[in-house]
Amino acid sequence: MTVPRIDTDTLRRLPKAVLHDHLDGGLRPATLVELAEEAGHTLPTTDPDALAAWFYDAANSGDLVRYIATFDHTLAVLQTREGLLRTAEEYVLDLAADGVVYGEVRYAPELMLKGGLTLPEVVESVQEGLAAGMAKAAAAGTPVRVGTLLCGMRMFDRTREIADLAVAFRDAGVVGFDIAGAEDGFPAADHLAAFEYLRAESVPFTIHAGEAHGLPSIHQALQMCGAQRIGHGVRITEDIPDLAAGKLGRLAAWVRDRRITLEMCPTSNLQTGAAASIAEHPITALKDLGFRVTLNTDNRLVSGTTMTREMSLLVDQAGWTLDDLRTVTVNAVKSAFLPYDERVALIRDVVLPGYELPGQ
Ligand SMILES: [Zn+2]
Repeated sequence: MTVPRIDTDTLRRLPKAVLHDHLDGGLRPATLVELAEEAGHTLPTTDPDALAAWFYDAANSGDLVRYIATFDHTLAVLQTREGLLRTAEEYVLDLAADGVVYGEVRYAPELMLKGGLTLPEVVESVQEGLAAGMAKAAAAGTPVRVGTLLCGMRMFDRTREIADLAVAFRDAGVVGFDIAGAEDGFPAADHLAAFEYLRAESVPFTIHAGEAHGLPSIHQALQMCGAQRIGHGVRITEDIPDLAAGKLGRLAAWVRDRRITLEMCPTSNLQTGAAASIAEHPITALKDLGFRVTLNTDNRLVSGTTMTREMSLLVDQAGWTLDDLRTVTVNAVKSAFLPYDERVALIRDVVLPGYELPGQ
């Protein structure tokens, strides 16, 4: 049976859900140029197209540390209320234009204090920008809901304080917590106080693990820290020595059988060297083995990508079908840090009807 190829316009219109996308990795290049000028920050170039290419090249170094260093430029313009408002509003509009109906945006408030804002002021500014974006997107007929994850930086010692912030804003749009930054040398268990506090307060969280570091980081995130989802988790395959045969080690079995969500980001993984190619990216094998995999962008500016592009790459290079795209979208909504009834409604009323295409 020949499967009709899904064209880009169709892909763009499909309802999507993204759980792993960094605010400071997703600015519009033209906005970055304007805000940098206002902030007196020098960029590698002030031509938006050349700047986009610069980010992509710098991120393509195959090194997580260099990849993370590109954020110096985006963070430079996220130190003021105006910069945060505009970036957050455009963030939502860009998701809506990409067909995203539910998104979780994440960022580290502690990296946005250089202009004199307090931690709560940072969160309030971002929430205000997101709300403005959601109102505009709804008015334009492309409604998108965006929840916020606050990140603590794993190489610093403010994660407990950021956990407090997540609890304080839990009824104001913050839906969860994460720790971000370089994995190497900064184990999640160093931040147990934050995770224990969040568990006591019943606030869900995800943890970046299994990207730069292997199985022990995934084990620690799940079994010591109690994460409900794993950011990346691509190296869970190290516990599946023969992917084709699908014989799972104990940790891989735990992840699949307990339906632990893997927030997978194919293009980002290629850039940091955590995967060799789209065709060989473990997301396909893990999906086929029944893992709860989700598809994500990670950093749209830095990786030069969108959800539509990630879908397109998997269709073209890994043989994904419409059914596969629906599966990862439903997985993402099921795993959203939203109340259960809202997830069910989103899947039933928005996602599933959107995948009923004529002729498919
Ligand atoms: Zn990430």
